[in-house]
Amino acid sequence: MPATAENLRELHQLHQRAKALRDRLASAPKTLASRQAALDSRKAALEDARKALQDAKVQVKKREHLMQAQQGKIDDLKVKLNLVKKNEEYKAIQNQIANDKSSLGNLEDEILNGYSEIEAQSADVAKLEAEYKQFADDVAAFRDQVESQTGPQKTQLDELEKAVAEAEAIIPDDQRERYRRTIKQHGADAMAAVEVDFKTHTGACSGCYVTITTQTLSEVMRAESLSFCNTCGRILYLAEEDHQNTRRKSR
Ligand SMILES: [Zn+2]
Repeated sequence: MPATAENLRELHQLHQRAKALRDRLASAPKTLASRQAALDSRKAALEDARKALQDAKVQVKKREHLMQAQQGKIDDLKVKLNLVKKNEEYKAIQNQIANDKSSLGNLEDEILNGYSEIEAQSADVAKLEAEYKQFADDVAAFRDQVESQTGPQKTQLDELEKAVAEAEAIIPDDQRERYRRTIKQHGADAMAAVEVDFKTHTGACSGCYVTITTQTLSEVMRAESLSFCNTCGRILYLAEEDHQNTRRKSR
C-alpha cells in the first residue's frame, strides 16, 4: 500500500478520531469529579442552613421557657403584693413587677422576631433542598451516562488504534522512525493537508499556514514518500480537491 494522499488523509482522520475519543475518555471523569465536588459543597451549604434553622428554633424555645418563668415570677409577686402591709415594701414590689413586665415584653418581641426568622430560614432550607435534589439527580444521570459510555468508547478506541496501526503500513520503512517521532511530538496534529492553489501553483501547510517550497509541493504531489513541512515538521499530504474547491468558493 503506497503513501498516497488518500491513504495519508485516511490515516490522519483515524489519528484525529482516536484523539477525540481519548480526550473524551479523559475529560469525562474530570467533569464528573468537578460536578461531584460542586454537589458536595451544596450539600455542606444545605447542612449549614439546616443547622442554623435548628439553632434558631432552640433559641426561640429557650426564650419561651424564660418567658414562662418570668410570667410565673410576676404572678408570685402579685400574690405577694396583696399580702404586704408596709407602703415601702408595696412600692418596691410594684417596681419589681414593672421591671419584670418590661423584660417580659422584650422577650416577647425577641420570640416574635425569632419566629419570622425561622419562617425565612425554613423557606431558604426548602429552596436549597430542592436545588440540591435537582443537582444530585443531574450528577447521578451524568455519572450513569459516563459509566455506560466508557466501556463502548474504550472498545471503539481499541478498534481505532488497531485501524491506525494497520493504516500505518503505508509508511515507508526508511521513514518510520521520523514518522514515530513526529506523531510523538504533535499527536493527532502530526499530519497536515496542503491546500494547493492551482492557478499560482503554490501550497500552504494547514498545520502552520506557511507556504511550502515548490520542491516540497512537487514531492507532496508525487507522493512517493513522506514529505515534511520545513516550518513545523508535520507530515504533509495533498488536500482533497473537492474540499479545496468548496473552501475557495466560501472565501
Ligand atoms: Zn507546517
